[in-house]
Amino acid sequence: MSSSQQHGPVFAPGSPRQVAVIGAGVVGLSCAWFLQEAGVQVTVYERDTAGAGASWGNAGWLTPALTAPLPEPAVLRYGLRAVLSPRSPVYLPLRADGALLRFLTGFVAHSTARRWRAGMAAYVPLNERALEAFDVLAAAGVPAVTHPARPFLACFRREREAERLCGELEAIRDAGQEVSGHPITGWQARALEPALTDRVCAAVQIHGQRYLHPPEFVRSLAYAVRNRGGELVEGVGVSDLQHVSGGITVVTSSGERLWHDAVVVATGAELGRLAGRFGVRQPVQAGRGYSFSVPAHQMPGGPLYFPAQRVACTPLGDRLRVAGMMEFRRHGDPLDPRRVAAIVDAVRPFLTGVDLDDRRNEWVGSRPCTPDGLPLAGATASPRVFVAGGHGMWGIALGPITGQLVAQTVLKGEAPPELSPFDPLR
Ligand SMILES: Cc1cc2nc3c(=O)[nH]c(=O)nc-3n(C[C@H](O)[C@H](O)[C@H](O)COP(=O)(O)OP(=O)(O)OC[C@H]3O[C@@H](n4cnc5c(N)ncnc54)[C@H](O)[C@@H]3O)c2cc1C
Repeated sequence: MSSSQQHGPVFAPGSPRQVAVIGAGVVGLSCAWFLQEAGVQVTVYERDTAGAGASWGNAGWLTPALTAPLPEPAVLRYGLRAVLSPRSPVYLPLRADGALLRFLTGFVAHSTARRWRAGMAAYVPLNERALEAFDVLAAAGVPAVTHPARPFLACFRREREAERLCGELEAIRDAGQEVSGHPITGWQARALEPALTDRVCAAVQIHGQRYLHPPEFVRSLAYAVRNRGGELVEGVGVSDLQHVSGGITVVTSSGERLWHDAVVVATGAELGRLAGRFGVRQPVQAGRGYSFSVPAHQMPGGPLYFPAQRVACTPLGDRLRVAGMMEFRRHGDPLDPRRVAAIVDAVRPFLTGVDLDDRRNEWVGSRPCTPDGLPLAGATASPRVFVAGGHGMWGIALGPITGQLVAQTVLKGEAPPELSPFDPLR
């Protein structure tokens, strides 16, 4: 039982008691759950169903050792070579619109070693507490399991590619992040994971990471929020937020107006639409990724990562989820089958006993990406509007800790120091 349930909620004078959360992805639901922990009455508005966004089809990795800002010099070098080919793991359409150009200009400006180091230093305090926040949920009875990644293997065709990853892990370690990993031979990797072929000639084994089943996790979190008396209003989009005396009104797309003390906007790749009016100027761009599931004769014991191909494989129940691709296109555009084919072709040489042609649940979803690769979490120009999102590649791993810290911000009206680099007004 939570401390607030034991002793009753203790509210600071003037702190919000009825809070609306817009968006029922991992981030929004985590905010709702941690607000409830302090006794707040929450209403979560979700245009579709809980977990319908990026929180559904992702790889489910909880890997603080890899959780780093996306813009960095190597991504840029790689990206410039690769972005224009539909078969490449990073894809940019030839006709970029104004919003995309603005995002890309900022992204390029942040792809320097100095900015990456500053961003990484900002991530470390969050990464350090990321797994603990999942344990808080589990200890309070959220029926969602996280699995230790034993092993977690990054696999390569060439030794020098593995050396490059070791260099990147070293840089993450230099920023203060705990990283435990070591290179192994292809033969050792195959002994650990018989699903790997002899095309894997080198690997890096990373310790202390976890993974989860994304749809099960979101469902459990949604259930827990409801079970504690929260209202989850599905099938209702929010089109506007308006100040009223002593509160804020959520205006739904059907024109209904609903009063709350405060609002947390957690709408994933669409964050800018509602948050822009409250001083949030950082663009949030959809970095679309694809996934599908396939049967495996012998299911890998943990996640497999193919960094050069930018493909992630995760054992989810009786099927292997295969995920990848970074496609800077409009959120909501249809799934492009060429991207699925590109992922299949990229990973086929490395896997055996996995039927990549028996695909189910082909899916595309939008990572909410910011130009500086940092989340947006905290207060806006309005004292009643807060923002949680923009985690790009790492919203599952960082969802619960973000929820915990944003809930504190809403309650105290002041962000804890860990959130200051993620100020939505930066
Ligand atoms: C292929 C792929 C693999 C990934 N792998 C990993 C991984 O291994 N580990 C990791 O940590 N992260 C991973 N990610 C990233 C992760 O999925 C995202 O960062 C995370 O899901 C974002 O969560 P969110 O709650 O911010 O957004 P979403 O999950 O997108 O949720 C936003 C919700 O808001 C709703 N919404 C939007 N607008 C409105 C509105 N106006 N009114 C009401 N509701 C609205 C949407 O319907 C949606 O349900 C991956 C992403 C992809 C695409």
